[in-house]
Amino acid sequence: MQRDEPASGCLYLVGTPIGHLGDLSPRAKAVLSGVTVIACENTRHSGQLLSTLQAKGRRLSFHQHNTRSRLPQLLQALSDGDSVAVISDAGLPGISDPGEELAAEARCAGFEVICIPGPCAATTALVSSGLPSGRFCFEGFLPVKGKERRQRLEQIATELRTTVLYEAPHRLLTLLQSLAEHCGSERPLQVARELTKRHEQQVGPTIAAALEHFQTTRPQGEFTLVLGGCPVSTPIELDKWELKERLQKLIKAGDSPSDAARHLAQETGISRRHLYSLLHQETSD
Ligand code: SAM
Repeated sequence: MQRDEPASGCLYLVGTPIGHLGDLSPRAKAVLSGVTVIACENTRHSGQLLSTLQAKGRRLSFHQHNTRSRLPQLLQALSDGDSVAVISDAGLPGISDPGEELAAEARCAGFEVICIPGPCAATTALVSSGLPSGRFCFEGFLPVKGKERRQRLEQIATELRTTVLYEAPHRLLTLLQSLAEHCGSERPLQVARELTKRHEQQVGPTIAAALEHFQTTRPQGEFTLVLGGCPVSTPIELDKWELKERLQKLIKAGDSPSDAARHLAQETGISRRHLYSLLHQETSD
């Protein structure tokens, strides 16, 4: 027999639609209608959905700028016997959205934490991309600039598993250019636009093809990128001397040492760090 929901003292992370309103599950509707407190990323944004459900719970805003002050209040509500639901503007709370810290703290404090599963742009894009979904990793939004962004791009370039990324429309072209630079423009890529909505579209099948498309069509709407993993090549074929020689050739052709290591890493599947270290080893090694 299924348990009675919502239960007192329980935290519910409720998935809501990422576009198509028909994707709100009956269970999500029942929980949202029945809880005594609803923490919304944006109370105005979720207002219409909650009014349609005739949800009576006390609504509180809960977003990245008030997380610290709200956490103790929400834990207190659980302790007072409230049933608490968390929703974001769209999709699953905790996935590039508020929810993660609250789930951790509620669990740590001994409260029950239950996810009412629902749409998530990452998994929706992944399964419709046609790219390998048996092993994948989620990178969400990359840092906008600086060393941290470069490091994440370098890790993504040598990642063997399929990688899923989120990006805002005004930064899509820059991300596509960065991916081309780090992964090579022929790497498989599907860009999922406006998933579950009227103008849902897939653009691919490579970084080059997506770049070409979005250089002539201004990116509008919401985007999730699914990038194929780094192809496994045959590192054993090349010994240290051959690798050093290839690195020197790239440097002679104008690459900086770190670019040479990155380009050869893309070509061979050998780690960039290892290749870079070869450049600093004595030739008599
Ligand atoms: N928690 C959400 C989820 O479970 O998917 C993600 C929230 S994150 C703040 C918003 C990002 O998700 C958007 O910038 C976009 O990259 C992606 N996204 C959300 N809805 C989408 C859609 N309908 N189509 C494509 N991507 C979407």
